[in-house]
Amino acid sequence: MNIRMFAGIFSGANSYLVDDGAKSAFIVDAGEYSAPLALAVKNEGLRVLWLILTHGHGDHIGGAERYLREFEGCKLVAGEDEQSMLADPSKNYSSAITGRAISLAPQVLVKDGDELAAGKLTLKILATPGHSPGGICVLAEDALFSGDTLFAGSIGRTDLFGGSMESLLSSVESKLFTLPDETRVYPGHMGDSMIGFEKRNNPFF
Ligand SMILES: [Zn+2]
Repeated sequence: MNIRMFAGIFSGANSYLVDDGAKSAFIVDAGEYSAPLALAVKNEGLRVLWLILTHGHGDHIGGAERYLREFEGCKLVAGEDEQSMLADPSKNYSSAITGRAISLAPQVLVKDGDELAAGKLTLKILATPGHSPGGICVLAEDALFSGDTLFAGSIGRTDLFGGSMESLLSSVESKLFTLPDETRVYPGHMGDSMIGFEKRNNPFF
């Protein structure tokens, strides 16, 4: 499994391009269209099967429509409880963040425990509400893509539409801190971490 992170210049959000070493790939989050990410896909002949949105906030979805146009056969995936936010620009803050009102309709709606195949990889969906109502994390082998649920040394904000601090703390404790300590954490903003390190050092717990 190869994991590449593309930090958004305008959105400030991380996108991840992940492939199985045999040309099947998926993307986690799309704060903005990244030309280097698209070039890597093209140059290496990767088949991007899924564009998975950890949640619907404007700084994670700005590049989604263009990726879906460019990557033939790629399906948009999001948590089933995130539909209204993705559809409604007043809930996803896209106008304020990107200058465009973005409304997205995922082709695949997932819930806790669902699995998606990406070539040799099996992706497991973990429902982690709190930062947003239908936020999800994605587990692939020993890598957790945590969106804005868990950051290195912090957690996501809960003051936006549908946010809940109580839900967020409970999501992290029940779904993420129960993963093996060696699980690598790839968040939606800033650098990566490990579950064991966060369990011991994250000041919110
Ligand atoms: Zn967010």
